[in-house]
Amino acid sequence: MPVLAAALLPVASAIAAPPAPAGPPPERPALAVILSLDGLSWSRLETYRPYYAAGLKRLLDEGQVETGARYRHLNTETSPGHAALSTGAPPRITGIVANRWIEQAKDGSLRSVGAAQQWVTDAVPGQPPLFYREVKKDGRLYVFALSRELDAWQRSGELGRSVVRLGEGPEGETVVFDSEDAITIFNLRHGRPTEAFPPTSSITGPGNLRVATLGDRLVESIPGSRVVVVSGKDRTSVFLAGRDRRHVAYWFDQETGRFVTSAAYDTYAGAGATAKAVLARFNLQKAGTQLPARFGTRWEKLPAPAQVTGFGAPLLPSPAASLWDYQLPTNGLGFPHDLRLSEKGYFTGLYTSPFVDELTADLAVELIGDPALRLGRSGPPDLLAVGFSAHDVVSHSYGNESEETLDTIRRLDLQVGRVLDALERALPRGSFVIALSADHGFSVIPEAERARNPGFTGGRLVNTDRAMTNAYDRLNRHLTQRLCLPPGSRPLFGGEGWNVAFNRPAFPMRTVAGPCGPEGRPVTLADLDAAFPEAVATLFGEEVESVLLVSQRERWPADDPATEFARNDLDAERSGDAFLVPRPGVLMHWDPARGSHHGSHHEYDTHVPLVFWGKAFPAGRRDRESTPYDLAPTLAELLGITLPDAVGRSRLDGR
Ligand SMILES: [Zn+2]
Repeated sequence: MPVLAAALLPVASAIAAPPAPAGPPPERPALAVILSLDGLSWSRLETYRPYYAAGLKRLLDEGQVETGARYRHLNTETSPGHAALSTGAPPRITGIVANRWIEQAKDGSLRSVGAAQQWVTDAVPGQPPLFYREVKKDGRLYVFALSRELDAWQRSGELGRSVVRLGEGPEGETVVFDSEDAITIFNLRHGRPTEAFPPTSSITGPGNLRVATLGDRLVESIPGSRVVVVSGKDRTSVFLAGRDRRHVAYWFDQETGRFVTSAAYDTYAGAGATAKAVLARFNLQKAGTQLPARFGTRWEKLPAPAQVTGFGAPLLPSPAASLWDYQLPTNGLGFPHDLRLSEKGYFTGLYTSPFVDELTADLAVELIGDPALRLGRSGPPDLLAVGFSAHDVVSHSYGNESEETLDTIRRLDLQVGRVLDALERALPRGSFVIALSADHGFSVIPEAERARNPGFTGGRLVNTDRAMTNAYDRLNRHLTQRLCLPPGSRPLFGGEGWNVAFNRPAFPMRTVAGPCGPEGRPVTLADLDAAFPEAVATLFGEEVESVLLVSQRERWPADDPATEFARNDLDAERSGDAFLVPRPGVLMHWDPARGSHHGSHHEYDTHVPLVFWGKAFPAGRRDRESTPYDLAPTLAELLGITLPDAVGRSRLDGR
């Protein structure tokens, strides 16, 4: 990190020296549990507190509740948030700057990359395949470098991704390779010249994560410790788990309705092999094709809670009414929702309902109780993380203020309760701790808020290619005119989150004859830097407060509160060329008028729950300032391990 950036290091709580430890060190738990509630802001969790009867009630009543936990980075999204929870560090350190970003490939071209997308050629850096088989069949030579491909082929006769080369075998036969690694070893063994392969495909994995997670440090520092993560979303599991191939990380697959993992994690040895057996059983008996029979096709609202329907009962906070005009009809509009209406099929319908949380809890309960895995009961401490995704997915379609979201949170309360019960059944009292937080908060639907409150000034920028109002198309048209570029030019490549990437490979561009003078004058990236903030102010001044150019990062205004948030999200290779700083209540969204989102640096997106529960944590509220970056350092202190990359601090009292 440059010295200047270090001097400006923004996370206030990280700068203060921790107070000297008081009292004896805390007892090490046998199991540390992270519960992540996707997109659930502190204010939403607290507002609906009178509804809770199960797990959320217990954690809030009995836990150490940090009420002032705020993220300090822009692009408050799932991937950056979960990477922050697991590492104790903001995106400028983890490298996970948004759910997707635009980066320059080695050949200079730009590409949009998913945060949890890992190119296959660097999937297992430094690990040559230890497996090689040549099998002759039907006049062809089959070459395997992946034992699972050989297994699958022997069972089914079918190969997944394969490379077929005619007449290239030692006897002129056709050769079928299961992977590029197979080609590499084949060339070596048969004295052929080596070939270089560009990355051609990707898997889900933690390859973009720049630092180790709590889980990574745990299994490195304490022999025999295991990390097990389950979630509705792939990126949640990957970033809560981390980079070590020994981790067990599974997520819900919307294509098959099953929980799956990827080749980034080892399923052939250790906990990976044990968990694979649990997952095989679970997917067969409780997921996949069993789902319609288990959950049905209707999502009904839970009945009103019994304890508050009697005479003199307190008035319960109610969700917003009349939202149909502003909702995305993913599972239709209004209760009961029909999960078959999802255009991507029933499994996606289920994923966009609270049932995905119930299913995730089912799996967590199964893993906690499994007699072979023995989580928290095998000697060294283990880490379990459960990512509940439904609140985020439901809020995106139906609004964070909707009755759908309230129902999802009430059901989440029950599922957290089931996980807590399972832990108490499986483990001795006092032997496990829970840390609960969220990856980000959520915004209400701006158009619906405007209808309720005419003074509301929020809005949305549209980023879908299908809309005439696409913000990047509009900016490109404006800049083309302003910089005298040929009609149809695209000086901007596009944007992800609140980052904008200039179309670098297209520069320098050339002018056409007109107000800028004769044709053919070069237009440089510096010219675009100069013109871009003014273009944003002209077209989107109501939505965007300011533009922070990455090229000017040493001179970002210190008195602008947004500077700290952008700086904490800045990664020179992944942040593109500029940050847009959104005004309060403004979303970036693909739909021009419906649904909601998150991602800003404003209170509703950054202020999240942070609750610690267990013997080491006295019950009660702590209204001091804290950050979700404190979660991993707190668990690390309890587990007796260090997190050199973390900026958060332990919230063990008196420490
Ligand atoms: Zn989201």
